[in-house]
Amino acid sequence: MTVQCTIVPVTPYQQNCSVIKCDATGRGAIVDPGGDIERIQEAVAKMGVEVEKILLTHAHMDHCAASDVLRRQLGVPIEGPHRGDGFWLEGLPQACKMAGFPHADAFEPDRWLEQGDTVTVGELTLDVFHCPGHTPGHVVFYYAPQHVAWVGDVLFQGSIGRTDFPGGNYQELIDSIRERLFPLGDDVTFVPGHGPTSTFGQERLTNPFVADSQYG
Ligand SMILES: [Zn+2]
Ligand SMILES: [Zn+2]
Repeated sequence: MTVQCTIVPVTPYQQNCSVIKCDATGRGAIVDPGGDIERIQEAVAKMGVEVEKILLTHAHMDHCAASDVLRRQLGVPIEGPHRGDGFWLEGLPQACKMAGFPHADAFEPDRWLEQGDTVTVGELTLDVFHCPGHTPGHVVFYYAPQHVAWVGDVLFQGSIGRTDFPGGNYQELIDSIRERLFPLGDDVTFVPGHGPTSTFGQERLTNPFVADSQYG
């Protein structure tokens, strides 16, 4: 079974929203709809996806601010992030206001996720990894058969997520990357929250924050 993915950069932060589709069933999910709903809907239409859920990596506005509106428009549930991001979801209206972002109401997902959970998309099963550090409730979605991961703002090509927000923790972030993600394998391709895709192997070699050479 294969997953198809279209990346749609949304919001002034150029956040990588992903529309993913289970090839076998045509059903799919929207990962991190931060805004620009029309552009997301265009990708959904182009791929011919029957959206059955919204998945959230974490609760920063550029990743989640359009999810509640989409949930109501599409009549689908929101799964993720981990409960540790509850305070970010409660503070969403204020965060949007401070950043000059379009207003979004506070909301709760239909399902909070935990380390070791799985989520289904059509007939596909994605593994859930709790990867705190950028935010306390950040999760990563991994489709093992194709070695592809959606990592939000945990890891980027050549960089890592910021840890200077409330609830951020540098050491936790490093541990999340090196102890939870890198063991999945060098050949794992990841879609980061911003910027180009890369592989865990490439980051182990060249990423100045988490390369093997930094950790002996
Ligand atoms: Zn973030
Ligand atoms: Zn982000």
